Amino acid sequence: MATRGLTEYESEHCFKPGFLQIIGGGHRAGIIPCSEKSVYWFLTWIASEENKNVDESIEKMKDYAIRNLKNANVSEETIELIKQSEMGNVVSTPLKYRSPFSLLFSKITEDNVCVAGDALHATTPEIGQGGCMALEDSVVLARCLSEALLGSKKGGDGEYERIQGALKKFAKERRWRSIKLIALSYFVGFIQQNADPFMSFIRERLLTRLIANIYINFPIYDCGKL
Ligand SMILES: Cc1cc2nc3c(=O)[nH]c(=O)nc-3n(C[C@H](O)[C@H](O)[C@H](O)COP(=O)(O)OP(=O)(O)OC[C@H]3O[C@@H](n4cnc5c(N)ncnc54)[C@H](O)[C@@H]3O)c2cc1C
Repeated sequence: MATRGLTEYESEHCFKPGFLQIIGGGHRAGIIPCSEKSVYWFLTWIASEENKNVDESIEKMKDYAIRNLKNANVSEETIELIKQSEMGNVVSTPLKYRSPFSLLFSKITEDNVCVAGDALHATTPEIGQGGCMALEDSVVLARCLSEALLGSKKGGDGEYERIQGALKKFAKERRWRSIKLIALSYFVGFIQQNADPFMSFIRERLLTRLIANIYINFPIYDCGKL
């Protein structure tokens, strides 16, 4: 599950322009300043009997977030950030998991229909790649369609088949990149949200740098020109 909020300050806030991640104890939280006066935050957790009603209201959700962050010994400013934040009507959202293996074999396109964006590769909030990947999809999709349609007469002979062909090309180009993103979200989520003491030890001693490198390297990708 994930919850999120945005805090607007009247004057400049004290958060550094970076991505602060707080992990461990079965939770993941993140704080990202959007401007000098606004800060975005999120918290993800694994739904269980113990926490099943925490998203009944904004107040309960904030209390839950604050309790967990206090356990992680965050600063007083972070607690204030949650207290003051605006939260929309959607207090929490279940995170969807699509197995990378299912994407390996399932159809991305059929006839003249295809899926793209979150519908193709749902991801977790801390990777910050859902929107970027949707934009990459749109560039590739527009390129494939334009190659198939430019110069041809609208509704002319073979248009339907050309669209089908363009969508197949799109699916081929985007399949592996989508599989990588889903696998990355699962791998990072599994490691970061794991409360097992052994896994926490390995994460803190060995995997933090590896995960940071993955975060930095994933967006370095050229999807080509329109
Ligand atoms: C709080 C938050 C922070 C985020 N931060 C980042 C970030 O920093 N970087 C990043 O890359 N990504 C980020 N994302 C993820 C990003 O917003 C999504 O991955 C991206 O918007 C997915 O694009 P999409 O076009 O696939 O889906 P959407 O943007 O969800 O668009 C789907 C559209 O379809 C419409 N729709 C739904 N059902 C129907 C229907 N039946 N008929 C007609 N229309 C319908 C919806 O109204 C919506 O407009 C964030 C998301 C959230 C919620």
